[in-house]
Amino acid sequence: MIDDLLAFDRAHLWHPYTSALRPLAAYPVTGAAGVRLRLADGRELIDGMSSWWCAIHGYNHPVLNAAVREQLESMAHVMFGGLTHEPAVTLGERLLAVVPRPLRHLFFCDSGSVAVEVAIKMALQYWQSLGCPEKKRLLTVRGGYHGDTFAAMSVCDPVTGMHHLFRGVLPEQLFAERPTCRFDGSFDPATLDDFRRLITAHAPELAAVILEPVVQGAGGMWFYHPDYLRGVRELCQCHRVLLICDEIATGFGRTGRLFACEWAGIAPDILCLGKALTGGYLTLAATLASGEVAAGISSGGGVFMHGPTFMANPLACAVANANIELLLSGDWQGRVLRIERQLGQGLEPARGLPGVADVRVLGAIGVVEMAQAVDVEALQALFVERGVWIRPFGRLIYLMPPYIIGDDDLGRLCEAVVAAAKG
Ligand SMILES: *Cc1c(COP(=O)(O)O)cnc(C)c1O
Repeated sequence: MIDDLLAFDRAHLWHPYTSALRPLAAYPVTGAAGVRLRLADGRELIDGMSSWWCAIHGYNHPVLNAAVREQLESMAHVMFGGLTHEPAVTLGERLLAVVPRPLRHLFFCDSGSVAVEVAIKMALQYWQSLGCPEKKRLLTVRGGYHGDTFAAMSVCDPVTGMHHLFRGVLPEQLFAERPTCRFDGSFDPATLDDFRRLITAHAPELAAVILEPVVQGAGGMWFYHPDYLRGVRELCQCHRVLLICDEIATGFGRTGRLFACEWAGIAPDILCLGKALTGGYLTLAATLASGEVAAGISSGGGVFMHGPTFMANPLACAVANANIELLLSGDWQGRVLRIERQLGQGLEPARGLPGVADVRVLGAIGVVEMAQAVDVEALQALFVERGVWIRPFGRLIYLMPPYIIGDDDLGRLCEAVVAAAKG
């Protein structure tokens, strides 16, 4: 049975970033509960990934399950054109209560990449409405990741991203040097020079700056100094360029603040949320705009030109509401802080090992950066052997466990990472 399933999977199903003809190994999962994934052969793995930033409360959570079940009894989905419903309105209220103040208008969409497309479209429509159609390019920093759709790809890191595959098709955006000052180091204002030079030279054609605040995720798991973000905010203001913060990975407590923008005390003009928004249950994202951006787009009778079929899906909104309530009603800050401390101690033995370039921890994210790219498939097999689920990429072996993880399980994750770094 399992063999048939695996054979079909290998023959016909694409997995993320893989070959159809020579796929990497995929492990069959039959269940997940708390911080454990259960494989078809009965083995249990401690989850170190939160299914890519999402499952912050772990799997099969009774409160989140109940929210989905309850919503299912009234309606799974209705179109959002001309209709509205309580789960969407409640989610709007919940989000506006916790995001930075200037953000007043929400657009619910299907996934993170779409939230980024929507954010970019908002910025372009804003400048068109204001009579500045020449402001249509984007400026970002190297080392970023914003998703896999076309506009999102155009602002991903031009080297590690997919630019070489789509040259001539992707819009050509502007890239400043990656923010080099470490989060936990001292800030050198000169690290903003390249960004300042670009925004100064190109302001008349720039619609927006887009970046991930403080933590660059899939582009390299890099944590940079909040003063850099503060500098970017000021420069955007000075040069009449909108600021889009992509908090799809960092939102909902992962960095130790509810939103990573808070480390710098800044607010963007447009904010993208996703991933942990539904606690890992269903795909949902949101793009939030300031009153000024929304008013600009809508001036002169303008309408915002986007409307996905599954916009504000009630099941997804209902579970997002339960997820946010669960987060805010508990001591998430204490938990993330405890995880941060334990990651710091648990990964410390990797520092200084031959082959290890850096060890860094922020909030519930722990990273061991190797000097060379790792063999993902071999390492994955080793981790599964040890009873943990950790998926490295490139030179990075990293942990971002569900916030509910206990000390023993987190200890085992750290030991596995250190063992892998020893080689
Ligand atoms: C994952 C991610 C995206 C894309 O989200 P999808 O839901 O995978 O489309 C965009 N930006 C950031 C920062 C992300 O981490």
